[in-house]
Amino acid sequence: MGIFDRHRHLIDTYRTMQEAGTDPLVTMERVLSPTEALINGRKTLLVGTNNYFGLTFDKECIAAAVEATRAEGTGTTGSRMLNGTYAEHAALEAELADFYGMKHCIVTTTGYQANLGIISTLVGDGDYLVIDADSHASIYDACKQTQATVIRFKHNDPASLEARLRRLKDEPGNKLVVVEGIYSMLGDTAPLKQLVDVTKRYGGYTMVDEAHSLGALGEHGRGLVEEVGVLDEVDFVVGTFSKTLGAVGGFCVSNHDGFEVLRVATRAYMFTASLPPSIVASVRAALRIVRRDGAKLRDRLWDNVATLYDGLAAAGFRLGPEHGPVVAVMMPDQMTTVAVWKALLDDGIYVNVAVPPATPGGLCLLRCSLSAAHSRAQLQHMVERLTAIGRRFGVVAMPQRKRAVAAG
Ligand code: PMP
Repeated sequence: MGIFDRHRHLIDTYRTMQEAGTDPLVTMERVLSPTEALINGRKTLLVGTNNYFGLTFDKECIAAAVEATRAEGTGTTGSRMLNGTYAEHAALEAELADFYGMKHCIVTTTGYQANLGIISTLVGDGDYLVIDADSHASIYDACKQTQATVIRFKHNDPASLEARLRRLKDEPGNKLVVVEGIYSMLGDTAPLKQLVDVTKRYGGYTMVDEAHSLGALGEHGRGLVEEVGVLDEVDFVVGTFSKTLGAVGGFCVSNHDGFEVLRVATRAYMFTASLPPSIVASVRAALRIVRRDGAKLRDRLWDNVATLYDGLAAAGFRLGPEHGPVVAVMMPDQMTTVAVWKALLDDGIYVNVAVPPATPGGLCLLRCSLSAAHSRAQLQHMVERLTAIGRRFGVVAMPQRKRAVAAG
């Protein structure tokens, strides 16, 4: 058996897609703006980039990044533990802690590493890690790295969580419950208040991953924890800089006094280089924008959500359960998903292909994500094109012809 043979099924699936001319891996030949790029030589509308506030091309963020590169160089070339903590990393941590009204913040090089490292370090042998069944891969990968017993509860189901915690009630280990604000595939929000109530009742700790809800939810953009009023009740909030904040990186905030020990215990924080000055500076600028202009950007984002979601729903598409910055369009099977995706791309519109095992419940999805930077016209165009393609592939019904009413 060759070294790659264990991935035979992936090799075969990928080859079939390539042969059918539907390779789902695209190269952005040139990104033109938060909503447009050149792909296959064609100007393409981007509706799958998680760029919720459209800040990747923001003038203040770019100027901050350029200035920081000139002042402090292109990279830190070291771990946060050694030579990779600059005054700006510390300043960003203080600003994030202040944003959430928490005492502590640790910034990591990606959001993936924040989940992987911090979850697997918080709980260990004799503890319990209790996760939502539809958790992101970074949370599942943390499960593989910890000695804690991993228990899953039914997606977004407080009763299922309660049943699990009840069984553990006399166990001495710590119980860490990990949920997400907005789920990345279907775009649904967690019933967070109920989940936090249950967790507290059984003496557990709560961690909320706000990757897709930072900026998008809450009066000040602090996410679902703010929207449903549990910011003071959760133990840890994790987030990413790779979506609303338009860059790369991750963080975790907490009010627990012992939190700082994670800096010398979290391997995914200690054994990797820290974020470069340009990124730290652009994220600081982006956070200032969230604080200053968040309400306006949020309104635009949610207007755009309504245009896309309501337009596609009216056309007869089956969608994720609620309005949100992620709009999931259900497809009947993998081949149709990729075929519709490719037809849309050929029409100059890019969305994400999301198929098992990346999706919950074996679902096949066209995963769209909205930006405050989209214009209504761009999204109306997308609805029109996807509807025409959906009809061609039999995913949505053709409109009924109006019967001529017999003159009487
Ligand atoms: N958590 C969730 C819910 C995510 O969707 C993602 C990224 N898709 C991450 C964490 C990881 O974020 P990052 O891109 O910063 O690694």
